[in-house]
Amino acid sequence: MSDKKRLETICVQGGYTPKNGEPRQVPIIQSTTFKYDTSEDMGKLFDLEASGYFYTRLQNPTNDYVAKKLAELEGGTAGMLTSSGQAANFFAVFNIANCGDHVVACSAIYGGTFNLFNVTMRKMGIDFTFVSPDSTEEELDKAFKPNTKAVFGETIANPACSVLDIELFARVAHKHGVPLIIDNTFATPVNCRPIEWGADIVTHSTTKYIDGHGSGVGGAIIDGGKFDWNKYKDKFPGLTTPDDSYHGVIYTERFGLGGAFITKATAQLMRDFGSIQSPQNAYYVNLGLESLHVRMARHCENGLKVATFLNSHPKIEWVRYCGLKTDKYYELGQKYLPNGSCGVLSFAVKGTRKDAETLMKNLKVAAIETHVADARTCCLHPANTTHRQLTDEQLVAAGITPTLIRYSCGIENAQDLIDDLAEALESI
Ligand SMILES: *Cc1c(COP(=O)(O)O)cnc(C)c1O
Repeated sequence: MSDKKRLETICVQGGYTPKNGEPRQVPIIQSTTFKYDTSEDMGKLFDLEASGYFYTRLQNPTNDYVAKKLAELEGGTAGMLTSSGQAANFFAVFNIANCGDHVVACSAIYGGTFNLFNVTMRKMGIDFTFVSPDSTEEELDKAFKPNTKAVFGETIANPACSVLDIELFARVAHKHGVPLIIDNTFATPVNCRPIEWGADIVTHSTTKYIDGHGSGVGGAIIDGGKFDWNKYKDKFPGLTTPDDSYHGVIYTERFGLGGAFITKATAQLMRDFGSIQSPQNAYYVNLGLESLHVRMARHCENGLKVATFLNSHPKIEWVRYCGLKTDKYYELGQKYLPNGSCGVLSFAVKGTRKDAETLMKNLKVAAIETHVADARTCCLHPANTTHRQLTDEQLVAAGITPTLIRYSCGIENAQDLIDDLAEALESI
């Protein structure tokens, strides 16, 4: 039997293989610290000369099992968990872009990420150029500067539901000598593996489908291990020149292309910012991963049924769901998400902001929540909530209008979701 297992088997069994007599389920190592016989033994860990555990802020076995499973699912060489999706995206970018650097980011991204880039990271001296997800190669080329260090986008944008042409974005990023970072939260590795399409780094808010039950906030970063940092030594000195805080270790030399990015993010960023995921939450993430492939199929089935219903309803102005043949992103969806996209769709009611609010108030199965992508159906009015900090122009660039409702199909019965929407639509 081949060593390389299929996706469903990795979801269930990846990352952790118990030895004779060891726990079948991933053990929760709820310990801040680890004991050593001598200070020399521990010193080797501090110098990154030996691998092992000494303090959970840097690494914990439970987290590592789960990160390894995620890396296997994404087809990457290394992975790490973070306390949230926000921390994952911050670390992924800050690991290679520092004060004075520049990043090209897709404008259709999660509101929290947009704010992180456009407000907070700008305060740190990092410049961003936002580009449309529909950019042509020539338009993308124009966004690059000599100090550009990365390109960032989402496989399926939250909440715009646009699908990114990952191959195009990867090709252009590589032409300019920088990696492509893809937030794969909505597609999950079950429906798309961006590394196979040329992406270099993948991030997740595990809070969404991966956890799947709304039980814990968390994030992850996976490195594809293919980007050749050494080829662009001057661009990425953090990875290719000595790190004084570890006696001059050079990450690409010591850990190779497959390990450099994640080791640096752990050894520097996790050490200094401490956005570690608790081992207890990592355990929940793993439980979620065990059924991810089964749940995603139902989310997609419900998503398509609900989108199809709304698409033909006279009170609905438009529906965005790449599974619909009429959708602008249908072709890209068929290419990158042939087995289905996810359960999240967005739609606009005919009328005003108030009509959107009334519709939502009258839903009984779908709950109003600042959340998406879990087992229970929920909905949100971005212009009033997650994206309320954005100006009108920024809203449009993010693919959001005042009557847009983000609707996240759970894994309930699709007909109950449709009946619920049909009744609520009668109220407007
Ligand atoms: C929710 C979300 C995030 C942020 O994740 P948190 O776990 O809430 O910090 C980032 N990216 C996408 C696409 C998301 O949906």
